[in-house]
Amino acid sequence: MPAPAQRERELTRIEARDVKRWLYQGSAEDLSFRDQVKALLSEPEFAPRASSSCAEQVQRCYARFQLLRERLDLRLRDVQERPARLFTALELAGVVDSALFNVLQNHYCLCGGTLLRYAESSPAIEGYLRELDSGETLGAFAVTELGFGSNAVSLQTRADYDPALEELVLSTPSPEARKFMVNAAFAGVPKLAIVMARLFVHGADRGVFPIVARLRTRFGPCPGVRISALSGAASAGPDPALLSFAGVRVPLHALLLGADAGLLADGTFWSSVPSPRARFSRSIEQVQLGRLCLSAAAATLTGASAFIAIKYAEQRRTFALRRPDLSVLEYRNHQRDVFSALAQAYASRCLIDFVVGKHQTTDPRERDYLFRISAATKAHVTYGAERAARQCRERCGAAALFEENRLSAFTARAQAMLTAAGDNQVLLLETARKMLLRRGYVRLPAAHPSLAAALGNPARLIGLLRERERRLLDELRGAVAHCRIADHERFTIWNENVNLALEATSAHASRLAAEAFASRLAELDSKHPAQGLFRLFALQELRPYLGFYLAEGLIHRAELKAHGSYLDAACRELRPFALELASAFDVPNSMLRAPLASDDYVAHYDHSVRQDEPAADRPERFQRGGPASSLGDR
Ligand SMILES: Cc1cc2nc3c(=O)[nH]c(=O)nc-3n(C[C@H](O)[C@H](O)[C@H](O)COP(=O)(O)OP(=O)(O)OC[C@H]3O[C@@H](n4cnc5c(N)ncnc54)[C@H](O)[C@@H]3O)c2cc1C
Repeated sequence: MPAPAQRERELTRIEARDVKRWLYQGSAEDLSFRDQVKALLSEPEFAPRASSSCAEQVQRCYARFQLLRERLDLRLRDVQERPARLFTALELAGVVDSALFNVLQNHYCLCGGTLLRYAESSPAIEGYLRELDSGETLGAFAVTELGFGSNAVSLQTRADYDPALEELVLSTPSPEARKFMVNAAFAGVPKLAIVMARLFVHGADRGVFPIVARLRTRFGPCPGVRISALSGAASAGPDPALLSFAGVRVPLHALLLGADAGLLADGTFWSSVPSPRARFSRSIEQVQLGRLCLSAAAATLTGASAFIAIKYAEQRRTFALRRPDLSVLEYRNHQRDVFSALAQAYASRCLIDFVVGKHQTTDPRERDYLFRISAATKAHVTYGAERAARQCRERCGAAALFEENRLSAFTARAQAMLTAAGDNQVLLLETARKMLLRRGYVRLPAAHPSLAAALGNPARLIGLLRERERRLLDELRGAVAHCRIADHERFTIWNENVNLALEATSAHASRLAAEAFASRLAELDSKHPAQGLFRLFALQELRPYLGFYLAEGLIHRAELKAHGSYLDAACRELRPFALELASAFDVPNSMLRAPLASDDYVAHYDHSVRQDEPAADRPERFQRGGPASSLGDR
């Protein structure tokens, strides 16, 4: 045990690599794989190319996919056997190329994962898996329809069973039933899709199930499959399309009913799940893995945004009273946004680790619990990413509008994440419904957070978050309790309380994140600077609801008024450690290649200007010492 003075001295300095070791706690193999992914993404093939056509960009995205697949030895069975590898590959690839993330997610998590989850092993299914694993054909996932997004339970694509030929016939009965946003427009990339379709047997609707269908081969769209490209949104994937089917025949083994249902060749159908809505939820369960991968990518994007903003702010000079040349990072307004982004990134990372761990160790039949924690995580982490990317972009000024500096693209990408893999509000409302019915949720006991402890005290902060969740949920329960009485009024009552339901589940997500963060921090010294990140995170989580806390008698008036000073105090304490903590998040600039996050952004731009000039024209006065262009790798 070090003497107190020595201990104090140690805590005035931290090393990014020590914090990183605490933050990323996988096995030695997992950590070395992470290094391998970062090294691969730092190779020239993954560098941004400004002036390329749309077709070149799509082609490059698919070439990058093949390179990652081969060099990292990614396999479909990783979804079940080595999920940590997939998470690492996807979350890091996601900050370099959002379309690439989309291809990886569809191929492995959604298409491959659905096949592995629901298909009975057979030579035909093994054939699909081999074909996808070889990279000869890529996987797609087709749920959403033009007229059915969040309302996918009502989707209309038909799969009629033909007992004479033991085949299913896929069809698109109306324009609104066209599959929407499926990445399959690019010619030359064969695609096999999981198509969610409504099964009809002898004309009776049996519910929605996944079906494997070939969309295109090297020679073009398959007979009966119509693919029309949608243009214009990079964050929607490389080649999104509208799809329709006209009498596309697929063999019976392509129908993936899983263990809960069966269809005999003669057309006898059975299912142990009585309600069509529940059948749909079972059929689409694999999306939860996609949701977690997306959350991991959002957390990485949050950390990368904070890293770029902090690295740049350290170098960026500005004016100040009697101090002509000051780093903009000295300003509290700047600190509040960029340090809060970093705090959000750490909290998100801890929350994801917690939820991924639960997914690996919980009985898969605990469906409501697993749904709740992954849905709440996705909403919390992606909302945090959107806020962080937007605020970091603003704090970096005009230079951050240029794509090479990533932040403007991150902002658009984070926006897409709010909707992808389930709209955040719809997920939170479904979570609220499950919490109200106490499905997979145990009501919190009263926390009685003491008003005596300081507002920055971690136990008090957690107590406040818990209490808000408990009280809002109680209020919601009281408000919608009539639902059990008057059936015809159920919608009206729910609708009157839908915003309260969103508040309650957002509070729940926030509490989960704070608890996951605090429990990881318990492994560190209580004076470790990362504890300051927790304080900042939790204080920011309270901020929009200070009125609620005051009205409920959970904080003093003086605390409400002083809340900003608490935030500033946390920022002041974090200031000396900010760059180390940001670097410890481990999304290095060798991968990001953002000029603003290089060791000397002026030298970087100067170097690129001089590269473009004939040698004789280079102005001597701009030639600075040191390395001409280092994309600094802190
Ligand atoms: C980047 C990206 C990639 C995608 N890739 C694919 C893909 O590969 N394959 C695929 O099938 N789909 C894909 N999608 C589609 C995605 O699944 C849908 O966007 C998502 O399910 C939401 O549907 P929607 O966009 O139609 O929104 P809508 O359902 O139209 O929602 C619009 C708004 O209405 C609100 N709302 C809707 N219903 C309710 C309700 N019941 N209660 C309260 N509010 C409600 C929502 O909160 C939202 O604000 C992708 C989407 C994105 C953003």
